[in-house]
Amino acid sequence: MEIYDVEKIRCDFPSLQREVHGRSLVYLDNAATSQTPEKVWHGIEEMYLEHKANVHRGVHTLSQEATDCQEATRRRVREYINAASEREIIFTRGATEAINLVASSFGDRFRDGDEIILTVMEHHANIVPWQLLQRHRDIKLRVVDINDRGELDMEQYRSLFTERTVMAAFAHVSNVLGTVNPVEEMIRIAHSHGVPVLVDGCQASPHMRLDMQALDCDFYTFSAHKMYGPTGIGVLYGKERWLEEMPPYQGGGEMIGHVSFEGTTYAELPFKFEAGTPDFVGIAAFSDALDYIDSIGLERMAAHEADLLRYTTARLTAEIPGIRIFGTAPHKSAVISFLIGDEHPYDVGMLLDTQGIAVRTGHHCAQPLMERLGIPGTVRASFAAYNTRREADLLIEALKRIASMLG
Ligand code: PLP
Repeated sequence: MEIYDVEKIRCDFPSLQREVHGRSLVYLDNAATSQTPEKVWHGIEEMYLEHKANVHRGVHTLSQEATDCQEATRRRVREYINAASEREIIFTRGATEAINLVASSFGDRFRDGDEIILTVMEHHANIVPWQLLQRHRDIKLRVVDINDRGELDMEQYRSLFTERTVMAAFAHVSNVLGTVNPVEEMIRIAHSHGVPVLVDGCQASPHMRLDMQALDCDFYTFSAHKMYGPTGIGVLYGKERWLEEMPPYQGGGEMIGHVSFEGTTYAELPFKFEAGTPDFVGIAAFSDALDYIDSIGLERMAAHEADLLRYTTARLTAEIPGIRIFGTAPHKSAVISFLIGDEHPYDVGMLLDTQGIAVRTGHHCAQPLMERLGIPGTVRASFAAYNTRREADLLIEALKRIASMLG
């Protein structure tokens, strides 16, 4: 098998060559967004230079080319996640918009007293859209807790289903703890109660092969910018039978069949959910990101990231006095959230930045989880396919200096 040449991969990402505060950039904020390979921004450039015309509305050549590029990405995404049909692939602005779409449109059928099961490790994007429903209806949120390793309490999950449960919505992978949740089992349990499931796949899609038909979830969401792709693009996968039944989320543009003041009919799937001019430039370039991942191999990328996770976790635990790592599940993706003694995460993050090391600090849009853990926030280092052991070493050495400096 071809060896994993991380230095060659790094050459595809010019942003990794830059300096920050006079040091080579060490980019360890990949769970927030990944850097972008040349292939992707060349894709964006090509769209602007060659095919910039509004999609679906023109008979002229440029418009047809732009439409073809957008629809080619839809086919590519369908194939990439093994959805049954292109009608099940909706382009959105991101995972956040995708979850809002489901909460608002699918949530239209929920009634007073209905219950939604969430987990304590959810990103705000998978909490607040469900809470917005509570403005008009008395919807109850039931929340699954975690154990000390940051794994979901599956007994509790099972026990939360009642005859009023109308939805279960949870992350595939936690953006703070890195825990890979047993989503197959969770979906099976929900379906045994006749309850549909939304999986927030933001932190899974960059690291693991997805198969919608095998997973059998009802909805799945992710964002392109965490997958080496452009910003402003997300995907909502939804089972066709639900999407057919659901009302549109927004109105205008290509989501219509016919409009009159007496009433409007809606377009076929997937366009029913794509109101207004989509970011067809970004959508087209997302295909280049998927090609890029495939050119290296997602499994090989994931194996490399798993090595970085093991290596860094072992060294941090052994060498940084007073470190606490949040999320120690055996099945974990390449995210390490930690605190050093009583130091505030912002102080540690700012000191790392002065040494060119980019990590995320704070609550990571997971305030209920921070409350559950009894902490204000964490420092989070997260790896991508282009990170190296040398970068892990630089992080560890910098943390040692910070730990001794802060006492
Ligand atoms: N869900 C999870 C688990 C995330 O990590 C994120 C982003 O960090 C989101 C949802 C929201 O993604 P976006 O801001 O791209 O919509």
